[in-house]
Amino acid sequence: MSDHKYNYLFGPVPSRRLGISLGVDLIPHKTCSLNCVYCECGRTTNLTIERREYFPGETILTELQTFLEPKPTLDFITFSGSGEPALHSDIGRIANFLKTHFPDYKIALLTNGTLFYQPGLIEEVKSIDLILPSLDAVSDRVFKKINRPFRELKNDKIIEGLAQLRRSFKGQLWLEVFIVPGLNDTDEEIAKLKDAVHRINPDRVQLNTLDRPGTVAWVKPATRVSLERIAQKLDHHTEIIATFRQRTQISSYQTDIESNILQTIKRRPCTVNDLSTTFGLHPNEINKYIEALLSRNVIRADVLERGTFFRTIQ
Ligand code: SF4
Repeated sequence: MSDHKYNYLFGPVPSRRLGISLGVDLIPHKTCSLNCVYCECGRTTNLTIERREYFPGETILTELQTFLEPKPTLDFITFSGSGEPALHSDIGRIANFLKTHFPDYKIALLTNGTLFYQPGLIEEVKSIDLILPSLDAVSDRVFKKINRPFRELKNDKIIEGLAQLRRSFKGQLWLEVFIVPGLNDTDEEIAKLKDAVHRINPDRVQLNTLDRPGTVAWVKPATRVSLERIAQKLDHHTEIIATFRQRTQISSYQTDIESNILQTIKRRPCTVNDLSTTFGLHPNEINKYIEALLSRNVIRADVLERGTFFRTIQ
């Protein structure tokens, strides 16, 4: 990213599914309609289904204009972040602005998929190229255990909203299912998920599981064998999301490295290797900044099976 200070844009970051993706954060940290047990961003602090202008839409447009004018190389501009982007009431306006002023860029929406039953949202997102909603559970009991939703959210309405989205939306729809062993990997739940998937009819189903620390310690990753078994059962263009592609040519931001590292860690815990890939810097170089941040007690280290993850101290 350039010298310009951005409050609502982050990255570009290498993403498993989207290549080099510029993140647009439309929602304050952990403002979400769900409070998933596996959330990488910690507990939801504002559990809500209210759609409104959480951040000033006009300022987000100005930041996008400034960032995109030099025509950086990107695979996607992605509405994502550490809350539910579809809660922002200007999402349609921002997507339309991008399509009008920067039509060469593709837009993606990473969403928990819970809000499409709300009037107007499907119409607002129609200019987006790729929507990646989640659906982890069908039965009420499992939905409540994994996703701990806002009290009025009902899964049958959510699934109908997703099916309606598919019927109206011309872009690609990739449905993510996050497997939490012991909760949504039972034969019974998978059979229900299979029915829901066929009803929604997404272009792809993507199975995911924990690979970074989540909110609660008892959530463990599913094994590859278990994901393959589930993929076979779902039987609907289902793939297991592989480790993200390595990208080396991320030249768009080399300044103010410490602050950029901190911003990235704030959004999700990262290993030195994650940061090295994100910033295109050697791990030794990243380590210098990590040590400085550790010594100032701004971040802490969590040692997990997949490596040492750094997260901010709140
Ligand atoms: S994983 Fe996504 S949907 Fe779930 S609580 Fe976190 S931000 Fe919200």
